[in-house]
Amino acid sequence: MWIDITQTMKKGMPNWPGDTPFSFEIAYTKQQTGSVNIGKIETSLHTGTHADAPFHFDNNGPTIDQLDVNTFIGDCLVIDCRPHSIISAAFLQAIDFQGVQRILLKTVDRISDCFPQHIPIIDAEVAALLKERGVFLLGVDNPSVDSLTSKEVQAHHALYAHQIQIIEGLDLSCIEPGLYDFIALPLKIEGADGAPVRAVIRKK
Ligand SMILES: [Zn+2]
Repeated sequence: MWIDITQTMKKGMPNWPGDTPFSFEIAYTKQQTGSVNIGKIETSLHTGTHADAPFHFDNNGPTIDQLDVNTFIGDCLVIDCRPHSIISAAFLQAIDFQGVQRILLKTVDRISDCFPQHIPIIDAEVAALLKERGVFLLGVDNPSVDSLTSKEVQAHHALYAHQIQIIEGLDLSCIEPGLYDFIALPLKIEGADGAPVRAVIRKK
């Protein structure tokens, strides 16, 4: 059975301060068109559950439509990081990844209704360890792989330097650590710095 680990996109959902909030409305009603309701959305591409394209933090990086879909479909390992405020390479070093190339970090019990004040920091050295283990996708259950106030976004750059793609804003509240099948395909938006994904997992 597939389990949905996507945040529902809705008005008032947690949003980066100052960034474009999510909104959905029926632009043309069935009454107006005589046949169908037609909705429209406006949103930051970094609201809710989404993939970052390297272009988000590097002007020369690939955009979301240029990323390989195979990155976003396959085995994944969910790792419980909840006691940790810093996720270090030493902590991950001790974990057997079982040859899996997609790693999801569970850092909170549940996704808050409000944008968080603090999130765990992922040590920049983690990227090299993940690369060494053959990992090419890192997913987290908070809004960023860097601290919320970081301007250097070191973890983003380190991950990109090691060819590791990023998914943020997963909802892992119902998910136990372990091995799963995983699908989280970003919308194919030409030139975009990121895109919403519908993320689902299934116990192996
Ligand atoms: Zn993002």
